[in-house]
Amino acid sequence: HFRCRSAFKLLEIDDKFRLLQPGRIVVDCGAAPGAWSQVAVRRVNSDRTDPALPLGTVVGIDLLNIPPLDGAHFLSSHDVTDPATHAKLLELLPGGRADVILSDMAPNASGVREMDHEKLIVTCLSLADLAERVLQPGGSLVCKYWDGILARKLQEKLSSVFGHVQTLKPNASRKESAERYFLARMYRK
Ligand code: SAM
Repeated sequence: HFRCRSAFKLLEIDDKFRLLQPGRIVVDCGAAPGAWSQVAVRRVNSDRTDPALPLGTVVGIDLLNIPPLDGAHFLSSHDVTDPATHAKLLELLPGGRADVILSDMAPNASGVREMDHEKLIVTCLSLADLAERVLQPGGSLVCKYWDGILARKLQEKLSSVFGHVQTLKPNASRKESAERYFLARMYRK
């Protein structure tokens, strides 16, 4: 009953790295239709499924409409790269801080591989600004990208502010696709 099969990629990543623990504060970038948020809500206990565990927070952002979900706050029709969105997001985060930033953002694919790659990398580079606004020291980022010549540039930018950056290719991601994820941990400003 996930809204989208992409949920299995996040489940796989989180089973291995345990980023989404009960009580954590999560920002889900490119959240529509909401499958990653469903995973995050369950794991951080933001819907109070287990009253004995700490209560987490999930805030999802997308250019598109995100249908409502118990335990999540959504900023539909918002651009993650727009500083005005960052200001609204801050108000929704307890203490104005997040522990984890997730990004499964993807531009509308033109089909021209190099162009789509470049567009997504530019979008991902803006996540560094978002991190600077809201990410707690020690926090983590999971960020989808399409592999290509500019991936190194994104990796370097992440490595300049995170203690550890690695590339992931979940089994749930089609082998033949250029889709990859960076997992960046130990944020430091
Ligand atoms: N993780 C989602 C899920 O599990 O339901 C699927 C995300 S889908 C692959 C990519 C989303 O990124 C699209 O809904 C698209 O509108 C969104 N997106 C792309 N660029 C964006 C931006 N600059 N700001 C906000 N959302 C963006």
